Parts: sequence; C-alpha cells; structure tokens
Amino acid sequence: AALTAAEATELDRLAEEGIRPGKLDDVIGQTRVREQISLLLEGARRRGASPDHLLLSGPPGLGKTTLAMIVAAELGVGMRQTSGPAIERSGDLAAILTSLGPNEVLFIDEIHRIARPAEELLYTAMEDFRVDVIVGKGPGATAIPLELEPFTLVGATTRAGLLTGPLRDRFGFLGQLEFYSDAELEAICTRSAGILDVAIDPAGAAEIAGRSRGTPRIANRLLRRVRDFAQVRADGVITAKVASDALALYDVDELGLDRLDRAVLRALCGTFNGGPVGLTTIAVAVGEQPDTVEEVCEPFLVRAGLLARTPRGRVATAAAWHHLGLNPPNAEGL
Ligand code: ADP
Repeated sequence: AALTAAEATELDRLAEEGIRPGKLDDVIGQTRVREQISLLLEGARRRGASPDHLLLSGPPGLGKTTLAMIVAAELGVGMRQTSGPAIERSGDLAAILTSLGPNEVLFIDEIHRIARPAEELLYTAMEDFRVDVIVGKGPGATAIPLELEPFTLVGATTRAGLLTGPLRDRFGFLGQLEFYSDAELEAICTRSAGILDVAIDPAGAAEIAGRSRGTPRIANRLLRRVRDFAQVRADGVITAKVASDALALYDVDELGLDRLDRAVLRALCGTFNGGPVGLTTIAVAVGEQPDTVEEVCEPFLVRAGLLARTPRGRVATAAAWHHLGLNPPNAEGL
C-alpha cells in the first residue's frame, strides 16, 4: 500500500493505538466539531441522560474513530466497534445491540454500507431503544419487542449524503470533519514524536506536515518512516533535512505526491502537452488500470489544484507544470 494512502492498513491500526488522543482536549484542530461535541456531552451530563446519536462524516484518516473513542471515554463508558460491511444480517446487529451495557457507545464505521434489513432494525433501536426480533417464518411470524439499554450510536461515513434520509434523520448531531492545516499537522507530528520518543525540531515537523495531504493518519505514518531514517542513518533527531532525505527515499515529494501521482502528471504534461486527454489514455501511459488512476491518484491531484477534470478530458493546471519544474505551454510572453 502507498505511504500516502489515507485508508488504514492493519499495521497502521496497531501503530495508531498508542498515539490516539484520548481526551477531547488532546485533539488537535477540528475546533468546530470539538466544541460541538463538548457541548453535546456536557448537556447530556447535566441531564443525566445519554447524548444524542452522532454522525461523523469526512474522508478517511481525519479522526472519526478517534472522536468516537473519545466520546465513550468522556462519558466514562465502554465502546463497541463494528462496521457497516461487517453487519450482513439484522441478527448480527440485534446481537450487538442486546449485548450493550447501559449508556455504552456503539461505533459503526462506514455506516452507509449497512445492509437494508439491519438498517431498519437500527431505526427503532436508535429511536426507542428497542428492537423487534422476528420469530418464525411466513404468516405465523411474530415480532417480539426487546428492550435495549440506552446507548449512543456514533456512525462514521465518508459523506453524510451517502446515508438514506431515514437513517440520517435519526442522528441528533452531524459533525463534518475537515482536512487539517499544515500548522495543525505540524502540531500532530510533534505530539506523536513525543509519544514515540523521538526528537523532532519544528522544521522537521513542518517538512512532514507539508507532505501529509491534510490527513493525520498520513502524517503519523510518514513520521514512523522518518523516525527509522533518523535513528539508522542520522543522529536520531528529525530535522528538516532528515525528513526530506527520508521522504525522498520513500518517493514522497514536497506536496505529498508519490511516484504514481507524479507519473500521471508527467504523462499529462510531457506526453500529452497538458491535455485535455482521456482517463484511459493516461492510464495506459503510466501502465495502470483506469480505476486506479481515477480513484487513487486523481482525488488528491484535483484537491491539490494540479489536475482538472473537464468534459473533454483531464487537463494539467499551471501549478502542475510548475511542480514538475516546467513552463506551461501557453505562458510564453506573459
Ligand atoms: P478515521 O476513523 O477518520 O479514519 P482515525 O480516528 O483512525 O481516522 O485517525 C487516524 C489517526 O490519526 C489516529 O491514529 C489518530 O492518532 C490520528 N488523529 C486523527 N485526528 C487527530 C487529531 N485531531 N489530533 C491528533 N491526532 C489525530
């Protein structure tokens, strides 16, 4: 898997456990969502009830799981974690729901991918803390209502719009996570380095932050690779030079592009003179599947302002030419 991918690998999951912020006050950035959650929790605490269900949306690696764990920690209760794709039958979900202790948190990642019958079971569970378990088949089937302990559901999804209306409406709180600024990512690198017990100077943290694509998970992953380099090839301190040498070795450039991202830009500018050119043509030029180019490379190239999708095909922006150290063709005489 690419170092710059936002999705978690098994290794990330293990490495991330130790460095997750455990309290709302330790969360860096996301000031808006953090303040909203803090209010929600305080309100519930004063009323002595469990808080409304929370839906957190945003791209992978921005802190949805972390915030769910923090909600449970701040409430002083346990958290059960599952994911939409893991719940295949409504019985799977009923089993989880009936096993929750009072006021516990249930975290469902990728909740938009939950199967329809399970989703319907979730409606009454969220609204009335009740599930109707169907016993028997055909005309003789009966629904037996089962009381649940009050619980708080934290759902995570990449985009709130992927949820069905009825499911979305049952959340009392919708928190939209944003990409992080370089300064926030720098603070995250410095905090994580402290936990990993490796020395880092501000310029070193800034160097990693700038290549992290606005995403804490990527910042932490790059930091782990830079740490190896600092300890094996340097004197153990992460400086700007150590970070940039290490990340050059791993093919992550100053903007956080990897080898394939750059190959796409080079094909676009070098071979096709900036476009417009079709996705398939680019894919062939870089020896990849069109899906990979479209789903793995393009979202960030577009977000970074390097590539534009137009009705006639993909186009390199002036920033793309500059990033490759080239002059845009129509900039002559400007
Ligand atoms: P998601 O569930 O959105 O994919 P995670 O909650 O698993 O993302 O976060 C990925 C990693 O990034 C975690 O290991 C966590 O330590 C780190 N992280 C995320 N958000 C923050 C933050 N606001 N401050 C510090 N670290 C963060």
